[in-house]
Amino acid sequence: MSCIFCKIINGEIPSNKVYEDDKVLAFNDINPVAPLHVLVIPKKHYESIIDIGEENMEIIAHIHKVINKIVKEKGYDKTGFRIINNCGDDGCQEVKHIHYHVLAGKKLDWYDAEK
Ligand code: 5GP
Ligand code: ZN
Repeated sequence: MSCIFCKIINGEIPSNKVYEDDKVLAFNDINPVAPLHVLVIPKKHYESIIDIGEENMEIIAHIHKVINKIVKEKGYDKTGFRIINNCGDDGCQEVKHIHYHVLAGKKLDWYDAEK
């Protein structure tokens, strides 16, 4: 398996874990762009939301439950945060294992795709 995030899940590549259960792993991004920059991924490999059938869509609700827990634990529910899920080439998705970026801890610039 050449997927870098699958390697993080199976421990071949180390990561700083923030949360883990049987379905999901959350870990610090190696190249953070905010004081909090966590990636939340399903343990099962899906390339993007496009690969997840309706029958498996509950994993997305679960990921959001985990994000809710992480931001509350760190107090960012009060100050705000951003969830980003890049999909495909135009979405600038580099790692082809679905992941949700959670950014917090500073006023985040709004990216304008037209610029
Ligand atoms: P994307 O551009 O695909 O939405 O985001 C991929 C993210 O994965 C990037 O923010 C990048 O810094 C992060 N990343 C890539 N390789 C590694 C790694 O080996 N470990 C960790 N912790 N993050 C990684
Ligand atoms: Zn993977």
